[in-house]
Amino acid sequence: MWGAASPSAHVTRDAYERIAGDMLARLEAAGPVDGIYLDLHGAMVTEHLDDGEGELLSRVRRLVGDRVPIVASLDLHANVTQAMIKHCDGLVSYRTYPHVDMAASGERAGHLLQRMLTAGVAPTKSFRTLDFLTGLPSQCTLIEPAKSLYAMLARLEPEHDTVLSFTPGFPMADFPECGMAVLGYGPDLARVQIATASLAHAIADAEGEFSMELFTPEAAVSRAMQRGEPGAPVVLADTQDNPGAGGNGDTTGLLAALLARRAPGAVLGLLIDPPSAAKAHVIGAGHKAIFELGEISGVQGHVPLAGEFTIERVADGRFTCTGPMFAGFRMDLGPMAVLEKRRRARGARIAQMPGRGPGNVPPRRHRTEDATHPRAQELGAFSRRLRAHRQGGAGGRRARPGKSGSDDVRVVPAAQGTAPEAAGAGIRRHRPRLSSLQPAV
Ligand SMILES: [Zn+2]
Repeated sequence: MWGAASPSAHVTRDAYERIAGDMLARLEAAGPVDGIYLDLHGAMVTEHLDDGEGELLSRVRRLVGDRVPIVASLDLHANVTQAMIKHCDGLVSYRTYPHVDMAASGERAGHLLQRMLTAGVAPTKSFRTLDFLTGLPSQCTLIEPAKSLYAMLARLEPEHDTVLSFTPGFPMADFPECGMAVLGYGPDLARVQIATASLAHAIADAEGEFSMELFTPEAAVSRAMQRGEPGAPVVLADTQDNPGAGGNGDTTGLLAALLARRAPGAVLGLLIDPPSAAKAHVIGAGHKAIFELGEISGVQGHVPLAGEFTIERVADGRFTCTGPMFAGFRMDLGPMAVLEKRRRARGARIAQMPGRGPGNVPPRRHRTEDATHPRAQELGAFSRRLRAHRQGGAGGRRARPGKSGSDDVRVVPAAQGTAPEAAGAGIRRHRPRLSSLQPAV
């Protein structure tokens, strides 16, 4: 049994209880089992539970008892909680962002489970949390400090016979236990503790390096044009509208900047715009038409990009992925079209599609805001507030870490095999709960 959803608002109580109930009923019907492996994300917040996975693992544990080993693999953006650690014998997370090691993580979890079944005992465990949050773009493992931290993790693992994970977390989940964590499993508790402590200290020391330079769309496009070389494209990841973090991929701010600056050979993909895709299919390839791109966005202050475009191609949106992230996955995104905007010798091409892909119109609460100014200073505020809360200094108030900034534009070299969910950066930030941005003390 497997299901998934793009980051959005809370999982409904009804969906959670039905799916969890079905899982447990099937597990019970399967009779006694030797071991359990669960493929989880780790940052699920439901209408009635802050820690969806912790509760799920506790129910599975109650059903099968203490003797059956339970192992789960997690996304790198998991918010690992005390309950998840308690009710599970082993947790293994991805080590790459963009996530190109999903299969390898499942394999590591499988080996851990196999090792438990062979040994007949659960490994010892060590769990450490960090007291600061970071924006998603700065968690990219192609750049520092994450690159070196995951390299260190890989060195510590064999050195201390520990299956080690570092989960930078998903700050937008916005609940008290949300945040960075290090977890380790192995036969010797002292060695496991040395491994987790070493890595946690290195992460704490790198706190300052997680801050990032912030760019407006115009500045980002200008930098890309300065840095671009023939045959070496520059990728701008528009994380302010990232469907992997709650956006819809339906805003046109970056497109407007590309057109305004006449960025040579620019391609934008994908823009979620079902009405425009439908219109292109009606008119057909090879024709010109007036489009109002991004009209469906509904984000406050967002202005659709109107103009005449040439419909270069139309397609049904069915394809098999070939990149490192989803190699072999068969996609069905619905009708798509490639539009071209010609301005003398230079043009911009846009691929668009209806909303069957990621980011299917989440409620407004999780939609993007129109602030364009950098909010880097808030990351510092998150750190201080989190520390105050965890040290019991929040005056009894529940610290709300809020949503860390995703509002910087990073230029990512394209030749590094990055997937579309790359760690780029936003121009506008996710709608914060304004109250959460006030100091808690
Ligand atoms: Zn993730």
